[in-house]
Amino acid sequence: MTPFESLGLQESLLTAISDLGFESPSEVQEKAIPILLEDETDLVALAQTGTGKTAAFGFPLLQKIDAQSRTTQGLILSPTRELCLQITNEMQLYSKYEKGVNIVAIYGGASITEQAKQIKRGAQIVVATPGRMKDMIQRGIVDITKIEYCILDEADEMLNMGFYEDIRDILSNTPDDKSTWLFSATMPKEVASIAKKFMHKPKEITVGTKNAGAVTVQHEYYLVGGRDRYAALKRLADANPGIFSVVFCRTKRDTQKIAEKLIEDGYNAGALHGDLSQNQRDLAMNAFRKKQIQLLIATDVAARGIDVDDVTHVINYQLPDEIETYTHRSGRTGRAGKSGISMVITTRSELRKIKAIEKKIRQDFIEKKIPTGIEICEIQLYHLASKIRDTNIDPDIEDYLPAIYDVLEGLDRDEIIKKMVSVEFTRFFRYYSNTRDLDEQKSSKGEKGQEERPKDGSVRYFINVGERDGYDWMSLKDFLRENLKLDKEDIYRVDTKDSFSFFNTDANLMPLILEAFQDFKVDGRFINVEVSKNPGRSGKGKKRDRRRGGRKDGGAPFNKKKKSSSRRKKGRNPGFF
Ligand code: ADP
Ligand code: MG
Repeated sequence: MTPFESLGLQESLLTAISDLGFESPSEVQEKAIPILLEDETDLVALAQTGTGKTAAFGFPLLQKIDAQSRTTQGLILSPTRELCLQITNEMQLYSKYEKGVNIVAIYGGASITEQAKQIKRGAQIVVATPGRMKDMIQRGIVDITKIEYCILDEADEMLNMGFYEDIRDILSNTPDDKSTWLFSATMPKEVASIAKKFMHKPKEITVGTKNAGAVTVQHEYYLVGGRDRYAALKRLADANPGIFSVVFCRTKRDTQKIAEKLIEDGYNAGALHGDLSQNQRDLAMNAFRKKQIQLLIATDVAARGIDVDDVTHVINYQLPDEIETYTHRSGRTGRAGKSGISMVITTRSELRKIKAIEKKIRQDFIEKKIPTGIEICEIQLYHLASKIRDTNIDPDIEDYLPAIYDVLEGLDRDEIIKKMVSVEFTRFFRYYSNTRDLDEQKSSKGEKGQEERPKDGSVRYFINVGERDGYDWMSLKDFLRENLKLDKEDIYRVDTKDSFSFFNTDANLMPLILEAFQDFKVDGRFINVEVSKNPGRSGKGKKRDRRRGGRKDGGAPFNKKKKSSSRRKKGRNPGFF
């Protein structure tokens, strides 16, 4: 017997569950489904994003409604059109074997006549955004006076978005004896007051800690000067070649401006904010979902509907005013069991906010430095090499090979590798070789997490394992410590990338490290460690830069379009080979 079968769900739903490939219920499902099936009760369920809340209310609702009747019996309110459609789709999959069940989505920005037509055909379950729902009630298009179940999904987000009054008005059209099921990631005062006002002795279930951010998210901040935010953003993107990120700005204007600048600088970026038409927003969301966009620049309100599982980084271009908003932002990453990073680009004056957030999320931030130009060059270089190694060879290339061999005649393997890598890499190097560091010095001490050490006497290493091998900085640090029999403090600045990583030790440990990795295998695979050529953060770059009048980062060499190849002819030779 699978655990799903022990929850009390009927056979037809269990078959749908097995078609969906769900093997066992998530925690919130395990807790909520039996309660909702057994009792006619109100329920408050708190669980983070990505924990499977839709199924937690969806299956009991489907089991409880009467499919023979065409009366609307269940109403699901959700904050955005995006979520509304997702819930509807998901519920349609769940109800695959329920004969005669109609689930209709009602949301703004689409034809009201078409939605009215669907309602008229008889919908036992309506999934709606509050604004459009209220509109349709007022026009007498939809009748919710006989509903038995009302679900408030993502209640905290609905309230954040200012739907309190709409929800109140909608609920006033529903019978008193219905059951209300409230689902929320967090429990701010506003949600508690909804529960108090509109619900009767709700049962409560909590998954994970109340109000806490997901533990799979690492929080980092980067201290910069106010005018360096944009340059810092680009460096963070460049230092993480596989990045798939939502970048949050405070205003629609900033959102649009940053997106435009990034696109101009050659990044795969797009904007998502309320001044765009519904169509433009759909295009941006779809492109992001298909990963045609790597950096989605968004306002908090517009980003509410983003429900993409593999966001690697959330970047706070500016901090939000409300701490609660930060929790929502960082909740866009670290979903579905994956780990994620939430980065904050901050100025010194905002450091107090970081402290306040730490308290709220009960998790410490790691203070990190914006990567230097040379660090980015190295990362890009190794990334390029791994990409070459992992590229599938296109069979169509076969026809062209004789001609290509002709052209490359006389070059040996070594030379070809050097040249091939240089084609792509020189551009990065030229771009970053003369840029200054962007870090602001923090006046107080008391660093936490991975502390930075003075450059003198410290060596940085490259190692050919990374996130793809299942490491994050903590586990890689543990791995190194255990295998090298070193202390925790001996290894620092561990920085994992997709297929490789970096770490530092004090210089006196270098012989030991290199010796240990002479001939080191894990699972039959050679682990290779090399001293990184990265000269580190000397003051040199800064001075040179000042003399030149503080040149800022210009365009990006990232995802380069043709135009960047004509950029700046000068520049030293990379010298990595
Ligand atoms: P939430 O509403 O809590 O953010 P969702 O209901 O959107 O989460 O579910 C997140 C994802 O997890 C969806 O893709 C859903 O299909 C999937 N999912 C839900 N329950 C299970 C389960 N028991 N086993 C596997 N996947 C599940
Ligand atoms: Mg949900």
